[in-house]
Amino acid sequence: MTIKFVNLGCKVNLHETEQLRKACYEAGFSLVEENEKADLVVINSCTVTHMSDRKSRQQISRAKRDGSKVVVMGCYVDIHEEIDADLLIPNEEKDEALAKILELVAHETWNQTGYTYDKTRAFLKVQDGCNQFCSYCIIPYARGRAKSYPYEQIKQEVVELLEHGFKEIVLTGINLSSFGKEWDESLGHLLTALKEVIGETRLRLGSLEPHVITEDFLRRTQEIPGFCPQFHLSLQSGSETVLKRMNRHYTPGEYKEKVDLIREVYPHAAITTDVIVGFPEETEEEFRETLAFVEEIAFSHMHIFSYSPRQGTPAARRIDLHPEVKKRRNRELHDLAAKLKEEYLDGFVGKEVEVLFEQDSRGLTREYIQVFSEEEKPENTIETLVVKERKKEELRV
Ligand code: SF4
Repeated sequence: MTIKFVNLGCKVNLHETEQLRKACYEAGFSLVEENEKADLVVINSCTVTHMSDRKSRQQISRAKRDGSKVVVMGCYVDIHEEIDADLLIPNEEKDEALAKILELVAHETWNQTGYTYDKTRAFLKVQDGCNQFCSYCIIPYARGRAKSYPYEQIKQEVVELLEHGFKEIVLTGINLSSFGKEWDESLGHLLTALKEVIGETRLRLGSLEPHVITEDFLRRTQEIPGFCPQFHLSLQSGSETVLKRMNRHYTPGEYKEKVDLIREVYPHAAITTDVIVGFPEETEEEFRETLAFVEEIAFSHMHIFSYSPRQGTPAARRIDLHPEVKKRRNRELHDLAAKLKEEYLDGFVGKEVEVLFEQDSRGLTREYIQVFSEEEKPENTIETLVVKERKKEELRV
């Protein structure tokens, strides 16, 4: 029986999809590519924005049109009712996804062929849920309370990923920065626990909240030889008043202190972030504060989202801005982000970078900068090379 997976949303979903894909392959399913028809389509859905909702709906109808059996799992299932699918798996039942899928197809005919897939980078989920309740976010309602996975389980998974030949491991979580809180520990303690198993393999962290950055945390990162100095520090707004309305518990000044701490230890670190523009009632002045702050920090890469209300969240009860205003602010911030990124990349010309090559002689540095080599480079190899020039948002070696 053929099966295909459609992943939507965050890195946590991506990791879960990869795990389930592997489990289904091992259970005898034939994997097919996303653009091919399959007997069974598994959609790991997302509901973080209206766009994600729309994509989830589109994927469900496409699979139905193709005559496939449809399994929808994840956040979209938790939030919406009346989904036209053969099997629905909410977040809290994801651990039983394979058993449920096998039950669904118990009476179908099996075809035991398939293919394996390989990648250079593995996403390892170490934490789920969030207790933070940012006023615009539906995730704490959809994913539930924060929960860290046990050290032994994570270490074991790292060992297995290394045995599979992955050259980089990315630790992810819904709120990765809350790792270990249940035991009065922290993400830093996890890094120390991984020291003995990770060896020289590259280790990257998913999205972080500013509070996790401390001298102790940075010291622990320095003890990992393959640590990648890319800090995706969630900002959301550079205006103190907007941050308050967002129920984010820091000021721009406190955020800046964290960035300064990072740069003392890693002067060329990539500081990347997410920003929401057009949050309800955001004034022009507040938006200008964000622009000025973004420029002050000089982010190396930014994900910019225009605010869209999520029903059931406190922010959805506030006055939404006109779409044109959001669009203009989004464009303005994009332009600034592109300029800052180019300036950051220019700083690498003539310097050495360590590249993990993926497909077509393209790869990523430890700072998560896209690199292209004119000389052919085999997949899944690491090389240290000198940067010749920057072409748009890519470095050439
Ligand atoms: S930290 Fe805020 S934005 Fe992130 S998942 Fe938790 S509530 Fe949502």
